[in-house]
Amino acid sequence: MSRLTMAHEKRPALALLGLGSNIGDRAANLRAALAGIAAFPDCRLLKAAGIFQTRPVGGAPGQDDFYNTGCQVETRLPPRELLANAQRLERELGRRRESEAAPWGPRTLDIDILLWEDLILDEPDLTLPHPRLEERAFALAPLAELAPDAVHPASRLTVLELLERLGNNNEIVCRLPL
Ligand code: ATP
Ligand code: CA
Ligand code: CA
Repeated sequence: MSRLTMAHEKRPALALLGLGSNIGDRAANLRAALAGIAAFPDCRLLKAAGIFQTRPVGGAPGQDDFYNTGCQVETRLPPRELLANAQRLERELGRRRESEAAPWGPRTLDIDILLWEDLILDEPDLTLPHPRLEERAFALAPLAELAPDAVHPASRLTVLELLERLGNNNEIVCRLPL
């Protein structure tokens, strides 16, 4: 292999995504989302977690419980392109930002980038790690199935340590198979 080729070859990054749905057939929405993620360009879906039924946190009262899962993706896309693909998939699977616009309101599908290697980024359109990861059992529990030893680059605690520190936090009702 020439040195030029080698200089262009970058190993793919590992990203951990969190998925949530609380409208319609929630499990079907999550499964369709995972199939969509597996078809993203320059991405490989490595693992998916089980489904966690969770109580809505924040937002309007009276919402249905969420179904949350997570997945690990290997990708050569830059973080913003992965986010753009995720937002396109949210729209394709029926997320309507107008009717689902209330903060933390009900939604057909939400995909967040929770961790991206040990990257720390603080931009308005993309914050990494996800700024509320450490306070959310519904996001940490799926990650703990996928990558318990992944280290949060700011706190330096692992995903498992973060989850143990937080506990159930009154969020998780039960775990269902995917
Ligand atoms: P929360 O961020 O508390 O989970 P949410 O998922 O309901 O809330 P959205 O309305 O889906 O929020 O997204 C608002 C904006 O957050 C998006 O337009 C996106 O640009 C931005 N954003 C910043 N960091 C991230 C991240 N790590 N993953 C996904 N979106 C992010
Ligand atoms: Ca979210
Ligand atoms: Ca989101």
